Amino acid sequence: MSQKSYQYSSMPETSHGRMICCTCGKRIKDGRYRVRERPDEYVTWHEECCADDPMWETIRRNSEREEARRQRFIQAVRVFKEEWGVDDLDHYLPEDLE
Ligand SMILES: [Zn+2]
Repeated sequence: MSQKSYQYSSMPETSHGRMICCTCGKRIKDGRYRVRERPDEYVTWHEECCADDPMWETIRRNSEREEARRQRFIQAVRVFKEEWGVDDLDHYLPEDLE
């Protein structure tokens, strides 16, 4: 089976089928998971139950990069706000930090 037939997702944002891990048999309640679509069902795995899949490393690196970029952006908005006194940029800032 090819690696391309897998999808990677996370709970509770999305779910596929019964959400029972086919390695350990337990329910996938939260966190990242891998899914493969079969004609009649979805086959799902906990991230930790298919940790040897190299795609997780790629996903982790991408999300770290996105988070770093988001932090730089927030910082830039703060600097701009202070410099120019523009208040209607607040929607760019995370609410919990103000
Ligand atoms: Zn599992």
